[in-house]
Amino acid sequence: MHANIVVLPGDGIGPEIVSATLPVLEAIAARHGHVFSFQEHDIGGIAIDRHGEPLPASTLEAAKNADAILLGAVGGPKWSDPNARVRPEQGLLAIRKALGLFANLRPVRPHSAALGASPIKSELLEGVDIVVVRELTGGIYFGDKTRSATDASDLCRYTVAEIERVVRSAAALARSRRGHLTSVDKANVLETSRLWRDVTARIMREEFPDVTVEHQLVDSMAMHLLSKPRAYDVIVTENMFGDILTDEASMLAGSLGLLASASLGEGKTGIYEPIHGSAPDIAGKGIANPYATILSAAMLLRHSLGLEAEAAALEAAVSSALDDRVFTADLAAPGQAVGTTQAAQAVIERLG
Ligand code: ATP
Ligand code: MG
Repeated sequence: MHANIVVLPGDGIGPEIVSATLPVLEAIAARHGHVFSFQEHDIGGIAIDRHGEPLPASTLEAAKNADAILLGAVGGPKWSDPNARVRPEQGLLAIRKALGLFANLRPVRPHSAALGASPIKSELLEGVDIVVVRELTGGIYFGDKTRSATDASDLCRYTVAEIERVVRSAAALARSRRGHLTSVDKANVLETSRLWRDVTARIMREEFPDVTVEHQLVDSMAMHLLSKPRAYDVIVTENMFGDILTDEASMLAGSLGLLASASLGEGKTGIYEPIHGSAPDIAGKGIANPYATILSAAMLLRHSLGLEAEAAALEAAVSSALDDRVFTADLAAPGQAVGTTQAAQAVIERLG
């Protein structure tokens, strides 16, 4: 196949991890007879410097015409003045919104070689394989806000349509995996959660009778995620609960440098990026862990290009590099670390 991939390196370690990942995608393309063309554009701080805005029109135009978007990271101390008119992170929010991306997927599958890096006991982590699907466009983050000298309010609102579309995509994902969906809400207290629960139950009954569904309250879910993480397959939840639970879930996997994400909408185009930030403390040193970006590229192959076998081969190659303890500094014992490009090269060598 021919795919047009827009590449947004961004700031900090973004350019390093993205340029280590492109040769990996090229190697996949060469092995499977595909042609991937990469178009690089600015987003975030670098776009503010070059174009005066974090999401230039040229970047958005290219993104709208792309089959998929691979992103590094945005932001850094240079642009973090709280009084600044524009901030790098606005570029990310704006592009997600413009592309209609409403579901953020974060897989958590702790690798045996990295289990020691998690604060959770290894025996609880073996075999854990979860995808958290966070709703991205609604809820309390986007509701009307008020503030006076004596009080403040944030409105939490969800429409039936917003709940339906994210539950459908999470349920379809569960169907392609182990067939179990856990929906997280706070239906004992919140009206939006009662709507969430009703809509979820109906969609599952009418459209996904083959997928089992379980409803959990967010407070007990926060506990179960650490005490019995193996019990979960796909977890779907609203925006704020998802924000909190995905950070919690990321601790199951050890290093931030191993965690990928995808932001998806109704169409095929999605944005794929590591969950970590721009890591200004290690930027420019060639030591950042590229695996989270490479695993994000595997999600790109799977979800935007429909190349499941290629995605699985890439994930297996990363796994094999980890088995062989090809570790960057965030995972390695002192003196044992490889650099960003060496780690990516190790993945290419293991593609078979
Ligand atoms: P943001 O606000 O952009 O999410 P953050 O404050 O959460 O950023 P990160 O940039 O994710 O922080 O970095 C947190 C810590 O993890 C830093 O010490 C950073 O160096 C480290 N880190 C993040 N990503 C990587 C990576 N790919 N490889 C190695 N270390 C990393
Ligand atoms: Mg962060």
